[in-house]
Amino acid sequence: MTTQPRRRPRVLIVGAGFAGYQTARELSRTLRGRAEIVLLNPTDYFLYLPLLPQVAAGVLEPRRVTVSLPGTLRHVRLVLGEAGRVDLEARKVHFTDPEGTEGELGYDRLVLAVGSVSKLLPIPGVAENATGFRGLPEALYLRDHVTRQVELAASAADPAECTSRCTFVVVGAGYTGTEVAAHGKMFTDALVRKHPAWPKDVRPRWMLLDVADRVLPGLDRRLSDTADQVLRSRGVDVRMGTSVKESTSRGVLLDSGEFVETRSLIWCVGVRPDPLVSQLGLPVERGRLVVTPQLEVPGRPGVFACGDAAAVPDLHRPGEFTPMTAQHASRQGKVAARNVAASLGVGDPAPYRHSDLGFAVDLGGVKAAANPLGVPLSGIVAGAVTRGYHLAAMPGNRVRVAADWLLDAALPRQAVQLGLVRSWQVPLDTASPELAKTGPGPREE
Ligand SMILES: Cc1cc2nc3c(=O)[nH]c(=O)nc-3n(C[C@H](O)[C@H](O)[C@H](O)COP(=O)(O)OP(=O)(O)OC[C@H]3O[C@@H](n4cnc5c(N)ncnc54)[C@H](O)[C@@H]3O)c2cc1C
Repeated sequence: MTTQPRRRPRVLIVGAGFAGYQTARELSRTLRGRAEIVLLNPTDYFLYLPLLPQVAAGVLEPRRVTVSLPGTLRHVRLVLGEAGRVDLEARKVHFTDPEGTEGELGYDRLVLAVGSVSKLLPIPGVAENATGFRGLPEALYLRDHVTRQVELAASAADPAECTSRCTFVVVGAGYTGTEVAAHGKMFTDALVRKHPAWPKDVRPRWMLLDVADRVLPGLDRRLSDTADQVLRSRGVDVRMGTSVKESTSRGVLLDSGEFVETRSLIWCVGVRPDPLVSQLGLPVERGRLVVTPQLEVPGRPGVFACGDAAAVPDLHRPGEFTPMTAQHASRQGKVAARNVAASLGVGDPAPYRHSDLGFAVDLGGVKAAANPLGVPLSGIVAGAVTRGYHLAAMPGNRVRVAADWLLDAALPRQAVQLGLVRSWQVPLDTASPELAKTGPGPREE
């Protein structure tokens, strides 16, 4: 009589961002081959999102902020694909691979870590005219677009066209919008300084708008004050308590009634959970999947969620949920791994608890606003702490990132457009990227 070898249980992790990457890494350490760990993600890399503004501003080359999944996650099987449907009864995830082939993966434990997408507000013209800032394609597109506007402005015969082309409007003064505006202003100033035909009386104008009363509204007020001061001293037009009423191909109408002529509306108003979450038919809180403090979906044993996609109870602030940040996502990934392992008989489960480690906002050059462990820092010290923090937090590429920073400090930035990403490939509504799949319309650049 032959006995069938016992199949190892399979843990399927969907999404390899901050949460999914940490889950996979911790599980491969703790389970040591006792389960098959499968990671389903559309790309073969982990994207370090906090350094994306530096890619858009030409400080870092795009590959620096990507960390190879197969190269850094030993004992984890990577499946390239995007989950389209989760069958919770049959315990299967249906996906489409990058070449359009459909497949399915069964699981014994499921970790949903699909993150978030850009949040689109119902403002006329925004979906058609704004650029989002959520991934590598957007950063590459923005770098080219900004370079192109400066070059076209330099050769424009009409002064009004020149002004419009070198006006850049960023909406949303959270950490993303603040960093994009801070780095963007430095980038365009550097571009025009080098340009032989640049009109002397014109300076690139960057505006940062938000309905909130201060920049970085969700963070410690001292960080807001530092960021505000750096932005204004650099010449960024900071307009708080202001929003966009309408956007056209020629400019934006502010709610104050002012019309700003621009070809560049950069939309950083925040994010909402990945649309896969709403398709599950499970309880959500502001679009995020409701989970227990152990990160398990109530009533669905073996199904876990973490990161931006999950509404994780904040045990330090009863009744509230942890914010969508990389710090929370990474640490939740570790807790999800621990609890998945416990459900397979390895170790004990634990709830997600956190202590505030502070926040770091890179403002370009040597400037930053940071409050590590609650200690407010500004200027060059904050700059050094922020860069050190990013190097420590990145799971790879540290030497390459540091080398790019050194080169950027020593050499002029390279200003060329590669044209690899076109506007139709970065639709603002990333929840429905049909346009990106079908190609450009008649007037798309
Ligand atoms: C420009 C920018 C700057 C930021 N800066 C900071 C910062 O300085 N500090 C900070 O704390 N936070 C920052 N954040 C927020 C932080 O990056 C997010 O909170 C964090 O990435 C959330 O991690 P996550 O793992 O939940 O999602 P993500 O990191 O977004 O990862 C989700 C993963 O799931 C994959 N995925 C999505 N849908 C599917 C699907 N259907 N099937 C398979 N895979 C899928 C995605 O491709 C991705 O790899 C920033 C965000 C942005 C956009």
